[in-house]
Amino acid sequence: MAEQVESFEIDLEKERKEILNAFRGLLRSCKRRTKADTAMIRKAFDVALEAHKEMRRKSGEPYIYHPIAVARICSEEMGLGARAITCALLHDTVEDTHITLDDVEDLFGPKVRLIIDGLTKIPEVFDQNASIQAENFRKMILTISDDIRVVLVKIADRLHNMRTLGSMAPDKQLKIAAETKFLYAPLAHRLGLYTIKSELEDLSLRYTEPRIYEQIEANLKSTKDVRNRFIRRFTAPIKEALSEQGYKFEIKARTKSISSIWRKMTTKEVPFEEVYDLFAIRIIVDTTQALEKSDCWRIYSIVTDFYQPSPDRLRDWISTPRANGYESLHTTVMSPSGKWGEVQIRSKRMDEIAEKGLAAHYKYKESKDSDSKFDRWIAEIRDLMESQHNNALDFVDDFKLNLFAEEIYVFTPKGDLRVLPVSSTILDFAYDIHTAIGDRCIGAKVNNRLVPLSYQLNSGDQVDIITSPKQRPNEEWLRFVTTARAKHKIKGSLNEERKLIAQDGKEILERKFKQHNIRFTHENISALEKFYNVNSGTELYYRIAKGKIDLTKLREIENQHGLLQVKKKTKRPVKKTKVAPISEIDQKKDTIIIGEDFKNIDYSLAKCCNPIPGDSVFGFITINEGIRIHRNNCPNAEHLQSKMAYRCIRARWKGQQTVERVASLRLKGFDQVGLVNRLTEIVSNQHNVNIRSISFETIDGIFEGKIKVLVYDTYHLQELMGKFELVEGVQRVERWDDGADDYMEDTTG
Ligand code: MN
Repeated sequence: MAEQVESFEIDLEKERKEILNAFRGLLRSCKRRTKADTAMIRKAFDVALEAHKEMRRKSGEPYIYHPIAVARICSEEMGLGARAITCALLHDTVEDTHITLDDVEDLFGPKVRLIIDGLTKIPEVFDQNASIQAENFRKMILTISDDIRVVLVKIADRLHNMRTLGSMAPDKQLKIAAETKFLYAPLAHRLGLYTIKSELEDLSLRYTEPRIYEQIEANLKSTKDVRNRFIRRFTAPIKEALSEQGYKFEIKARTKSISSIWRKMTTKEVPFEEVYDLFAIRIIVDTTQALEKSDCWRIYSIVTDFYQPSPDRLRDWISTPRANGYESLHTTVMSPSGKWGEVQIRSKRMDEIAEKGLAAHYKYKESKDSDSKFDRWIAEIRDLMESQHNNALDFVDDFKLNLFAEEIYVFTPKGDLRVLPVSSTILDFAYDIHTAIGDRCIGAKVNNRLVPLSYQLNSGDQVDIITSPKQRPNEEWLRFVTTARAKHKIKGSLNEERKLIAQDGKEILERKFKQHNIRFTHENISALEKFYNVNSGTELYYRIAKGKIDLTKLREIENQHGLLQVKKKTKRPVKKTKVAPISEIDQKKDTIIIGEDFKNIDYSLAKCCNPIPGDSVFGFITINEGIRIHRNNCPNAEHLQSKMAYRCIRARWKGQQTVERVASLRLKGFDQVGLVNRLTEIVSNQHNVNIRSISFETIDGIFEGKIKVLVYDTYHLQELMGKFELVEGVQRVERWDDGADDYMEDTTG
């Protein structure tokens, strides 16, 4: 008994020494610190040590190792200062020990309190429930605006937990690893913490796909010598030339991270052998800020003296830094053995920003406008969060879009630069300029070529948006856009339109009531709402306008159910009011018909409501199983239509009147200045014709255009074709068929 106690005490003594060593290591890593900084860090260490003294991690080691390690990541790998180190040391105290926020404020002041408060609000592991997880993540992002260090310390915390994940239970490992990949790695990336992002992804892969991870790791090890020899031979002449010219520089060969090799293997569907030797070397030049740009370009010129560059793979992020502040010159060159290799050229300052991300900006604050770019990003996040997302998952989806995206740089006709995420379309661009431009966009001229709404932009494109006052957003647009802003604006416009349509429905109902001599009273309206199982007047009117509610049954409802109060005897004969055909209200919507015409569309009938022919139905786009058809009064319908409206498409049973069709036209002729403009003008001025898509191509002066329009009948189409034929330069206009997908049918009641 006594012996046991003794040996325990000896362990404690040894542990205490080790803990002190770890702390000294932390202090040494924080190079630029004042006496006051040291005192603050030491005080934080003492407080944390005392508070956590009874606690041990899952691995058995004293808990204090964790905050020390997190603080060291902040200092060494993120380049953060004394206050962040202090906060990192204290980050778990308020949540897990007797220390309170008031204690923290008393000891370290209000700023540290604010950060610890932010950190404490972010749960260690998010709840099982996906929507709660998203909501929490949103709260976490909100704290950014208080102090960015909250998020940085949190990422450091997660990094250390990932590094020590081995001692956790397997089910927890998987959850934490997945969460890291889903939330933290993209966040680190967006903040410019590239190295940390790679490590988070690698660690995550190690636990989510252990066999793949181990295999790639082993393969990398066995090919290491070949790779190193190759890189040595490749860099030798560059080194020599740079030294000759008196540059102070460092060359680093970058090993691809395991997760990025795996990503390449899966996205390109190639084996390890085709990926492992893709190499990247980095030349870091030690120079003054005044000379760094010209030095980088001079080094570029030296490199390309030895190796042939690929002209379309030159990336100049020095003249135009990325939104998160990244600056570098990238080129891809051909090595003598015929392999392409990436060469990154940057100054020491740029390298520090690339490695340590945002924190390094503070150090060089006065130098560039990178701070205003970061501010812009914060402002975008703000924008997103302040817009009304009734579903937190929606928010995360939209937000993730922004996180993963790399940027492209495009220009307005006047040459103003716009930064958009990769795969943005001209519609994203239009909404980025102004909502009104987006809402009225019918196409654009990209580098003087007319392109449709769905056209994806590339860096360097010059975009001239074409608008028409008749244009309105529709559901389909949501598939064309990438940016959260455009999505949000389109959804907003669609809601507005829904209200307008409901207004029409109200008028239709008023007229119907009049015909049937039914009073337009609150009681009667709510009786109808009940009968048709809708929960608001707006919804009722909207469905009426859309022809989803059969008003011919009014008499029946009145007779059989006695629901509706009828006006007492009026002699006045019922005047036949001309009811506007619903098709006119409805014409702009795309409709998919279920039936033999659409055998190629993969759909199934929902089990929850078992729709049968004649039911009013809609289609829901499932992730893996094509389109599922639900009844409009299915118990799930409201949820699907309100929360996932963008995945709902209209559907109806075949056999009802066709009102509007898509017609495709092909035009050929000689390219002339302003020709495409004249053609689009004709379409937008033509009454009753709507453009669905439009594309033009010119090869050696001969243009071919394809225009899809929505028309009522062949008369309208002939008229349009006639006008096209009159345009100077147009040689031929013909009908053109590209399959049944464009067959349209409309709803009439
Ligand atoms: Mn922690």
